[in-house]
Amino acid sequence: MDERGRKLSDPVGFRGSGEALPTPCYLVDEALVEENLKILKGVTDRTGARILLAQKAFSMYALYPLIGRYLCGATASGLYEARLCAEEMAGPLGTQGRRVENHIFSPAYKESEFGEVLEYCDTIVFNSWRQAERFGACAKEAGKSVGLRINPECSTQEGHAVYDPCAPGSRLGVTREAFEEALGPEGRAGQGDRLGLLDGLHFHTLCEQDSDALEKTLDAVEEKFGGYLPRMKWINFGGGHHITRPGYDIPRLERCIRRMQDRYGLTVYLEPGEAVALNAGYLVTEVLEIVHNGIDTVIVDASAACHMPDVLEMPYRPPLRGSGLPGEKAYTCRIGGPTCLAGDIIGDYSFDRPPQEGDRLVFEDMAIYSMVKNNTFNGMPLPAIGLRGKDGTCRIRKEFGYGEFKGRLS
Ligand SMILES: *Cc1c(COP(=O)(O)O)cnc(C)c1O
Repeated sequence: MDERGRKLSDPVGFRGSGEALPTPCYLVDEALVEENLKILKGVTDRTGARILLAQKAFSMYALYPLIGRYLCGATASGLYEARLCAEEMAGPLGTQGRRVENHIFSPAYKESEFGEVLEYCDTIVFNSWRQAERFGACAKEAGKSVGLRINPECSTQEGHAVYDPCAPGSRLGVTREAFEEALGPEGRAGQGDRLGLLDGLHFHTLCEQDSDALEKTLDAVEEKFGGYLPRMKWINFGGGHHITRPGYDIPRLERCIRRMQDRYGLTVYLEPGEAVALNAGYLVTEVLEIVHNGIDTVIVDASAACHMPDVLEMPYRPPLRGSGLPGEKAYTCRIGGPTCLAGDIIGDYSFDRPPQEGDRLVFEDMAIYSMVKNNTFNGMPLPAIGLRGKDGTCRIRKEFGYGEFKGRLS
C-alpha cells in the first residue's frame, strides 16, 4: 500500500473525506504529539537537559522525523529499537543537519548482537559491572560513551512492584553495595580502572510520576553515589516523568536538572516514553454485540488482552470518549473484547443511551504502550495504524491481515 496511505473520513468527529476509518484502528494525532514535544523542548531550551524518546512506549516511526526535530534522539531497550532509531530518526530524514543521539540499555547484551549494537548506538548503558567489563572496553575502542545503571534503592511508588525497579531483589541497576564491592578493597581512594570505564551513571526508577518523586530519588542518588559523580560526564534520569500531564511540576524538574549540572558539571539526560505521546492517540472500535447476564457487556472488535495489554497489566480503565463513570449517566455497562479470555474486559462505563451494534467507541490515550505491545492471541487481527495529520485529515498508514498472524508461527 502507498506509504502515505489513503485519506479517510471518520464518523467519530475526525475530519476527512472518502471511506470510513476501518476498525479496530489506532489513530495517532500528530498535532497532539507535537504539543507534547513543544513542552519537552521547552525543558531542553531552558536547562540544556538532553531529552530522548524511550521507543519502547511509542515506536510510530512515521513521526520520528518530527520527534527528532524537538528531542535530542532516542533510547532503545533492545537491538531492533536501536536499529529503528538509526534508520528512521538518525537517518537523513530526521537529522536536518543535527546529530541524533542513539542510546541503549539492556540488562544483558548478547555477544552475537553486540557488534550491531555498536553499529547503531553512540551511548551504551550496562546493568552490571560484569557486563561493563565484558563489553565496555570494546565499546570505548569504538568511540562510544559508556554508562552503568545504578539502583538508588529508593522506591517512590506504592502497589506497583512490577513497575518498581527499586523493589527488593530487583535485577535492574547496581546497588551501592555491589558498586563499591566491585571497586575493590581500596574503595573510593583506589577508584582505578573500573571507574575509568564509565562516562555516566543511569537510573530509571519512576513510573508516571511527578518531579517530587524525582527530587527524592536524587537525594538517594547523591547520598549513595555522590562521591562518584564528579568523575562522570553525564547522568541519565531515566523515564517515568509525566512531564506532559496537566499539573506536572516542570519548574521543580528544572531545579532537579540544574542541581546536577551545577554541583557536578554533568550533562543531564531524560528519556521519557509516555510523556512524548501522552493523550495523543485513540483506539477506534466498533460495537459487535451486547451480552446480558446480570450486567450488560458490550463486545467491541478490539481486545484488552491483544490490543491494549496495559489495561490488564497495569491495570487501568482507559478513558472512553463520550462516556461517564459507572452510574454517572443513564445506562451503565461493561465493555469487553472478542477473545475467549474471561478477563478480556476493558472496563465499566456509562452512556446517555445504550450503544448499538455498529456504533463506534473511541478509547483515548491509546498511542503509548499499545501498538508496541499488541499480539494476535486467539487469531485476532492487529488494529490498523492511522495518523491524523496537522490539517485534520486521517490517513491509514498500515493495515494488517492474516499474514501477520501466520507469519510468526510455523
Ligand atoms: C520504560 C523505560 C523508560 C520510559 O519510561 P516511561 O514510563 O514510558 O516514561 C525509560 N528508560 C528506561 C530504562 C525504561 O525502562
